[in-house]
Amino acid sequence: MGKGDTLSTLFAKAGLPAALVHDVLANNKDAKQFTRLDVGHTVEFLLSAKGELQALRIKQSDLETISLSKNGKGYVFKRDLTKPEMHTAYAHGRIDSSLFTAGKEAGLSHDLIMALANIFGYDIDFALDLREGDQFDVVYEQQKVNGRQVGTGAILAARFVNRGKEYTAVRYTNKTGNTAYYRADGTSMRKAFIRTPVDFARISSRFSMGRLHPILNKIRAHKGVDYAAPIGTPIKATGDGKVIEAGRKGGYGNAVVIQHGSTYTTVYGHMSRFANGIRNGVAVKQGQIIGFVGMTGLATGPHLHYEFHVNGEYVDPLSAKLPMADPLAGADRKRFMAQTQPLIARMDQEKTSVLAMNKQQH
Ligand SMILES: [Zn+2]
Repeated sequence: MGKGDTLSTLFAKAGLPAALVHDVLANNKDAKQFTRLDVGHTVEFLLSAKGELQALRIKQSDLETISLSKNGKGYVFKRDLTKPEMHTAYAHGRIDSSLFTAGKEAGLSHDLIMALANIFGYDIDFALDLREGDQFDVVYEQQKVNGRQVGTGAILAARFVNRGKEYTAVRYTNKTGNTAYYRADGTSMRKAFIRTPVDFARISSRFSMGRLHPILNKIRAHKGVDYAAPIGTPIKATGDGKVIEAGRKGGYGNAVVIQHGSTYTTVYGHMSRFANGIRNGVAVKQGQIIGFVGMTGLATGPHLHYEFHVNGEYVDPLSAKLPMADPLAGADRKRFMAQTQPLIARMDQEKTSVLAMNKQQH
């Protein structure tokens, strides 16, 4: 497949009649993929003894082949996906100039470097905190087909030493299928969010972006989650942060707004009162009580109205995409330890041999 080639020019080169292109693509919307060809891809033509086209095939990637094969009625489209074998690989890096340079030198792909930065993004500000001599270790999934690396998967375990302070993270999927990164001891990564700001509360109204009402011409939306609970029930900050509002806030009644880093903001409304010391500008810790359930503002009954904002946009706090810190307990914690300890041991062992090798070289 060279520059300027189309399916028609390729048919011509293969000695096939130009009209056949139309037959091959007729009544087959998937076959359109054969008209969007990338330079460098090889198109294989399978011909019968009489020189009739039996099939054409393109290897899209190491993992994907598409083909059109002749049957009684015409040409049938088929997509074959190769399932790669998963291996684990290890990389070690030392920062001299940037995380990207060090990551590349350690053999990590752009995606893996981004993933590494995301994992530790709550602890380390990669724009400001990085120092020469910072180090990282990563155990990650490698996809192989016939022994050849074709891609990478997730980071399974990672360690970052930033200005002498060590952070460790392991990936774990709990029994309900939620995947998150935890510290080695099973506690969640700092500054991830606890999902529920009120214990033992009932969700009385869920998040909805609503739709434009045709007559009222107003968007009926509920851009938060309501937790019904008796007046006076404690409300917890769902993440570490700084109080940027604490006071009367229109329909929200007594409300607290907390800023968590540069990305996240949480809002807590209808409080009966604020906890001692909660005022504009103070720092709060995850789980700290910031106020108590009430029905101030526009509330028909006692409940907490809770909002989650990502870069100023309203987001459903119950959505699985947010960095939530559901604590591991009981059987889940045991399972976590059994799965993740070997990964950390592997990382430590690989690091020891890398360092020993470096010592020999110097
Ligand atoms: Zn509400």
